[in-house]
Amino acid sequence: MRNSVAVGTGRTLLLAALWLLLGILPLMAGGAVPGAASTETYSLAENSAGPLGKRAGYLQEGRDRLDLDRVLGALQAGKFIGIDRAVPGFGLGERPIWYHLAIDNPEAQTEQRYLTIGKTWLDRLDIYLVRDGTLQRQWLVGDDVEHSFPVLPGVGFAVPLDLQPGGGDLLLRVETPEPMVLSVSLLSGEQLRDKERQAYYRHGLLYGFLLAFICYNTVLYFGLRDRSNLYYALYLLSFILLSLTYTGHAQQWLWPQQLDIQRYSIMSMMVLFGSAGFLFAGRFLRLELHAPRARQWVTWGSLGAIGLAVVSILAGNHLALVFIAFNFLAVFTVGMVWLGWLTISHGERAGYYFLSAAVCSMLGVALSLFAVWGFLPVNRLTFHGVEFGLALEATLLSLALASRFRQQEQARRAAEQLSRIDILTGVPNRRAFSHDAAGLWSTAVRYGRPLSAIMLDIDHFKHINDRYGHQAGDRILIEVAQLLADSCREGDLVARWGGEEFVLLLPETGLDKAHAFCERIRQAVERYPFSWGEDRIGVSASFGVAQLEQQLTLDELICEADCWLYRAKRDGRNRVAYTAASIA
Ligand code: GH3
Ligand code: MG
Ligand code: MG
Repeated sequence: MRNSVAVGTGRTLLLAALWLLLGILPLMAGGAVPGAASTETYSLAENSAGPLGKRAGYLQEGRDRLDLDRVLGALQAGKFIGIDRAVPGFGLGERPIWYHLAIDNPEAQTEQRYLTIGKTWLDRLDIYLVRDGTLQRQWLVGDDVEHSFPVLPGVGFAVPLDLQPGGGDLLLRVETPEPMVLSVSLLSGEQLRDKERQAYYRHGLLYGFLLAFICYNTVLYFGLRDRSNLYYALYLLSFILLSLTYTGHAQQWLWPQQLDIQRYSIMSMMVLFGSAGFLFAGRFLRLELHAPRARQWVTWGSLGAIGLAVVSILAGNHLALVFIAFNFLAVFTVGMVWLGWLTISHGERAGYYFLSAAVCSMLGVALSLFAVWGFLPVNRLTFHGVEFGLALEATLLSLALASRFRQQEQARRAAEQLSRIDILTGVPNRRAFSHDAAGLWSTAVRYGRPLSAIMLDIDHFKHINDRYGHQAGDRILIEVAQLLADSCREGDLVARWGGEEFVLLLPETGLDKAHAFCERIRQAVERYPFSWGEDRIGVSASFGVAQLEQQLTLDELICEADCWLYRAKRDGRNRVAYTAASIA
């Protein structure tokens, strides 16, 4: 029943995942932006801190590159299409887009605004400020442009514009093979600083959170040597690196002005992130045990993606790398959900946490994509969905690792407990006895307390085996062990010494009391109605008793009890032997 529920939910999730994948692909193929009828001039008095897509229009270049004059002509001719969302996304590998915003400065003096373009990966951005049909100023920025304006981490490109009183046109020509997502705003100095501050807090929080998990899992790896922890730390680290590259932190801190590295860094990191995720999933879900085929798929998929990425970098094909990275990441996002579902359907508990974690991160990706795409409003939750999703995923996966650790610990304890028990009789075995007796021995020696050891051996047991069979013998061993365990007080130790011999250690018990105890058990065994089928079996046992006196070790005490047992056997069996002198 439970399994069929799991499979049912799994199927629904898989369908949802497929639906998502089918949703991602058109975006990569280049989603057209539905047009609004007209665009409305943006007045600086509005002081909007958000992206201004809904006020803007766009025009896509055809085969030939357009120059500003022709674009201004097209603008005059009403050929620009209105955009109906704040942040338009045009997909991957698209032809250059011209983005137009009509601005009005209602003040009497020149106003300064920062034109911010929130995506750090855009290759080339030609920015034109036009007044009355003539070009006033022009800038060139982008992550593939030498001596560009530096990127502000988490914010993007910010170009200061001096906007004179009256109307004007802002035109951007954007060229990039990466996702053409245009988050364009005009910010005052104050708003820009606010945005920067928020970005620092947000990333500080996220990286701090993830770094804590990385440290925790690395330490666990060195302590427990479970590679799941190591791979998980690598997976998180690769996400931080990916995030550092696409937010622009890496560009600013790690490789400023190194365009060759910058050009390929985000896409390479995406491929590494996905591969690290698959590596972790394979290990954590123990795919080699229950789904070796799936394990091969993800291994070869990751190696294939890395290989293709390396080839496209060596060939200098930026666009190919973009397609490889995005397709791989789409497959990765859905693949993680699939692996979780597969693991659950194979009855592995690890799959539950994993699946919920993978769904969280997939939903995060979906939120961000749908927001950029225009199905959801662009706000902090939706725009940073990927990061929220990953933080949730990190938490759930850490819980999963902790729960795995707890299960292993329980299994270890259960195994340890089992290794102390004699399988046939259920009383402790000789190993457990040696361990537990050490404490009783040292307490008795240190405080000069009485302590007695008893060795017990069933008489003519070989004969019983021969006559009634081994199973009957086993039955008798079980019943004698039970009888002994029931006769002991709390604190006494009883164990199967081997064969049909048992050992007892009685703290706070001198020779006389130990002797009386043995006598009671001897009579109980003698009277016990052992039977096998119709047959009643007469059983007796012999006892050797020794009390702690001059012996130097526990072994010596037991050895002495064993000697007395030998004496009891020699004297005719079914009796208790001890140093009679000690009693007096
Ligand atoms: P004694 O009175 O001198 O102790 O004679 P005995 O026959 O009891 O002693 P001996 O040491 O000659 O034989 C012990 C027998 O116990 C031999 C062995 O097959 C049997 N035995 C040992 N372990 C088990 C067991 O787990 N189950 C059964 N059924 N028999 C066992
Ligand atoms: Mg015997
Ligand atoms: Mg024996």
